[in-house]
Amino acid sequence: MGLNLLSICRRGLHTSPARLQVIQGVAPTKRICIVGAGPAGFYAAQLLLKQLSDCVVDVVEKLPVPFGLVRFGVAPDHPEVKNVINTFTKTAEHPRLRYFGNVSLGTDVSLKELRERYHAVLLTYGADQDRELELENEQQGNVISARKFVAWYNGLPGAENLNPDLNGRDVTIVGQGNVAVDVARMLLSPLDALRVTDTTEYALEALSRSQVERVHLVGRRGPLQAAFTIKELREMLKLPNVDTRWRTDDFSGVDSLVEKLQRPRKRLTELMLKSLKEQGRASGAAGSKQFLPIFLRAPKAINLGEMEFSVTKLQEDYAVATDNTERLPSDLILRSIGYKSSCVDSDINFDTRRGRVHNTEGRVLKDTEKIDPGLYVAGWLGTGPTGVILTTMSGAFAVAKSICDDIAANVLDTSCAKPGYDAADKRVVTWDGWKRIDQFESEAGKAKGKPREKIVSIQEMLKVAGV
Ligand SMILES: Cc1cc2nc3c(=O)[nH]c(=O)nc-3n(C[C@H](O)[C@H](O)[C@H](O)COP(=O)(O)OP(=O)(O)OC[C@H]3O[C@@H](n4cnc5c(N)ncnc54)[C@H](O)[C@@H]3O)c2cc1C
Repeated sequence: MGLNLLSICRRGLHTSPARLQVIQGVAPTKRICIVGAGPAGFYAAQLLLKQLSDCVVDVVEKLPVPFGLVRFGVAPDHPEVKNVINTFTKTAEHPRLRYFGNVSLGTDVSLKELRERYHAVLLTYGADQDRELELENEQQGNVISARKFVAWYNGLPGAENLNPDLNGRDVTIVGQGNVAVDVARMLLSPLDALRVTDTTEYALEALSRSQVERVHLVGRRGPLQAAFTIKELREMLKLPNVDTRWRTDDFSGVDSLVEKLQRPRKRLTELMLKSLKEQGRASGAAGSKQFLPIFLRAPKAINLGEMEFSVTKLQEDYAVATDNTERLPSDLILRSIGYKSSCVDSDINFDTRRGRVHNTEGRVLKDTEKIDPGLYVAGWLGTGPTGVILTTMSGAFAVAKSICDDIAANVLDTSCAKPGYDAADKRVVTWDGWKRIDQFESEAGKAKGKPREKIVSIQEMLKVAGV
């Protein structure tokens, strides 16, 4: 179909036909916009491009650089996890995909505008806030979120000035998920192991001066409810010069329950019990650091240099506070109790309480029940901030499939052409621009024996991208 045959929906839209873009001679009949270039966005794009041979997918990303938490969340010493970037790159280089970096929904473009310019909009902008303990003194300087600490060592623009105070001996991490363990590992790992990763140079420098010796990893519930997984625990147990010390009382009665547990939980519990049994025999060499998982403690108060916890007991699977308390020395407190999404545009039907977009299986709801045709959500923004990349992938595939189904069932009106994002006069980073940044970072890293040295300043990213 040639351009002159396209009928253009112009309701409220002021776009000249000249601005309609045709990629490699394909007249797009279905234009889909994905907001956010993280795993959910890329996996959804992959399925859409495969299933809909006449669609064009535009990815709009707030930062000049793609990959979301794969770049800014996944721990630098887990490079194998970052291999998904190769798959995302293949998708991004598909001739029917366009990447618009440095374009933020809610600031540079509104949802209303995107909906006018596309047949379908899929929101996958993730979770960029964190849940709070809601304790007094939580805003004081020595309490920071694990999210910010992760962003700091991973070079998220804006996080470089965090300056976590690593001059004290004791760090208390509240929360026991894998993010909490990542943070503990970064604090306790030998520096030489981190120097060969893409940890930012300023973080390496700060960690080299760190006085931290003990990391407490505190959870409300017991060992049978621990949220970290076996791979992450194994890594902690293998860290050189670090003793893991469990509390025997936390494991009371656990032995007898092991046989009844489901396999992953059983293996994790067996590993904890094995480590507990062996800890008396650990050498505890002078100067060694300690990793101290502590169960059945709920945060109660933050005081100068210490944190107070209620001793809890389990009722069913819930932790209930008792009258007993315990104080832990805490020079630095890292809150790691979950991420939270934010509402970036007032037209988004956002569930503030749960910190995600109201939806049913990825179809965004207009009110409590009615679906808003043409608007979708996937990834952490739709499900809440849980799940690994694989979980995000399955969810994103399912939502992309729903878009295909809705198009096939004519739920979406795709009879008239849509113009897509108008990037004119904007400082947009294209995929080629990202490749220039990528090359620059890789070369800067090579000189130091690192996979890359990330650019942290947005202005510098734009400069290197040639924008
Ligand atoms: C610290 C940490 C470590 C992790 N480690 C692992 C691991 O080792 N293995 C594993 O499998 N999983 C890991 N995960 C989980 C994994 O990162 C997530 O499952 C996945 O990234 C979620 O993908 P997403 O696309 O929903 O969100 P994100 O990855 O957050 O992507 C969202 C994208 O949207 C962009 N964006 C935000 N706001 C806007 C806006 N207004 N306009 C346009 N774009 C916007 C963001 O810049 C980002 O690029 C980890 C998570 C964290 C937090």
